[in-house]
Amino acid sequence: IDSRAAEFQDLAESLNRASDSFRDKINELERMAQLQSEFIGNVSHEVRNPIFSISGYLEALGTSRLSEEQRTRYAEKGLNNLQRLQNLFNDLIEIARLEYREDLIDRRVFNLKDLVDEVVEMLRPKADKKGLNLEVDIPSFEVNADRSRIRQVLVNLIENAIAYTDEGTVRCRVTRRKDKVRIDVVDTGKGIPEEHLERIFERFYRVDPHRSRESGGTGLGLSIVNQILQAHGESVSVESTEGRGTRFQFELPHATSENGQA
Ligand code: ADP
Repeated sequence: IDSRAAEFQDLAESLNRASDSFRDKINELERMAQLQSEFIGNVSHEVRNPIFSISGYLEALGTSRLSEEQRTRYAEKGLNNLQRLQNLFNDLIEIARLEYREDLIDRRVFNLKDLVDEVVEMLRPKADKKGLNLEVDIPSFEVNADRSRIRQVLVNLIENAIAYTDEGTVRCRVTRRKDKVRIDVVDTGKGIPEEHLERIFERFYRVDPHRSRESGGTGLGLSIVNQILQAHGESVSVESTEGRGTRFQFELPHATSENGQA
C-alpha cells in the first residue's frame, strides 16, 4: 500500500510539473498573441491616417475654385502622405523578411569606408537642407557582414540623427577594437529623455510622434536596426543627453580577425 501511495505521489508531482509548464506555454502564447494584435492595431492606424489624408486632398483638388497656391499645397501634402505610406510599406517588408529569414544573413567581406561614404553622400542633401554639418571619420576597414543590411542600419541611424538635430553636426566615426570595428553615429540634436531610452527600439515607439511623422518616420527604423544587428550576433547601444545630443554605437567583426574570413 505504501508503494502504491508513493507511486501516486510521484504521478501527482509530475502532473503538477506538466501543468505548470503547460500554463507557462499558454501564458507565452497569450503574450505573443497580444503583441501581434497590438502590432496589427498599430499598422492599421499608421495606414489609415495617410490614406484618409490622401483621399481628402484628392477630393479637394477635384473641386473647382482653388487658387494655384492651394492646388500646389494640397498636391504637396498628398504626396507627403503617399511617401509616408511608401516608407511604412518598405519597413514592414523588411521586418517580415528579417522575421522569417533571420538565418539568411548574407555575410561577405566588404570595405566599410566605401559603404559609409556611399550612405553619407546619399544623405548629404538632407543635411545641407537643414544647414547641418555631416562629417565622416573613417580609415579603410574591411568587415565581414551583410552589406545591404548594414547599409540599412547606417541609413536609419544617420537619417534619424539628421531628422532629430536642428543645428550642429552629425558625425559617423569608425574605430578598430581588437577583432571588431566600432561604428558611432553621433549628433548634437535634441537628445532623448532618459525615461524613453529603453523603449526606443520597440516597434512604433516614438518620443514625439508628431515630429517623427513630419519627418516621414515610421517608428520602425530603430527596431529594424536592432533586429539586423541581432541577426549578426551583435547589438546596438545608445547614450543621450537631453538638449545636447545622442550617440548610437554598434560593432562588426573585422574581416582579418579569426572568425572574419569569408
Ligand atoms: P522614427 O521613424 O520615428 O524615427 P525610429 O524607430 O527610427 O522611428 O526611432 C524611434 C524614436 O526614437 C524616434 O521617434 C525619436 O523619438 C527617437 N530617436 C531616434 N533617433 C534619435 C536621435 N538621433 N535623436 C533624438 N531622438 C531620436
